[in-house]
Amino acid sequence: MDFFSILTGVLPVIFRQLFESDTSTYTYLLGCERSRRAFLIDPVACEVDAYIELLNEIGLTLIYTLETHVHADHITGSGLLRERLGSRSVVHRDAGTLCPDLLVTDGVLLQVGDIDILVRHTPGHTSGCTSYVLQDRVFTGDSLFIGGCGRTDFQQGDAGVLYDSIHEKLFTLPPDTLVYPGHDYNGNTVSTIRQERHKNPRLGGGKTREEFIAIMHDLQLAHPKYIHEAIPANLACGGSTDTTPSPG
Ligand code: FE
Repeated sequence: MDFFSILTGVLPVIFRQLFESDTSTYTYLLGCERSRRAFLIDPVACEVDAYIELLNEIGLTLIYTLETHVHADHITGSGLLRERLGSRSVVHRDAGTLCPDLLVTDGVLLQVGDIDILVRHTPGHTSGCTSYVLQDRVFTGDSLFIGGCGRTDFQQGDAGVLYDSIHEKLFTLPPDTLVYPGHDYNGNTVSTIRQERHKNPRLGGGKTREEFIAIMHDLQLAHPKYIHEAIPANLACGGSTDTTPSPG
């Protein structure tokens, strides 16, 4: 541990924000400098070769893949990574899938080397949505986006539940906490809790639960193009063979 870490209690973390452009999905690599062991949050199946190359290049061993939820827009790489690297997949208990190696609930602490990640259950986009808190940052999946949030019109979506999750589990984090979302469609990479509390058009400036529910109800979004392949595949941890979704 260096002098700065002793002063602040913040341990150095190897960190990469990775982007899959077809579905605008962010994947996060978190590695412990001391033990060279790592987490991947929301790996995408078609990027698995690139993840393995990156892990080898940095000299990291993948221990856990963490899902923020059962995705409707892309296929998870957790099954392939488990098969190729022996990593263990982690999903919330309420996600409705029994293929993961570890089912977690709110308050569970996941540990790899010197890295501790706190599980926060943030349902609303789906019933099994999870955010992961690491030191000064939170990985929000589809619960909270930069200037937006996940849709609530399918997969057990519930706008009122999402409003409560965001206010109780995310907006209560320190204002300077960095927000790393599961997707961004506008070129943004990171935000803060303060920024989202004030400027998020759906939630910011003290919007009420009723106002938020009305906004979500009026969105009228088209379904994701890979939804019919992605949900069944992800309920089986992405499978391990054909992971290329056909256009739909
Ligand atoms: Fe989603």
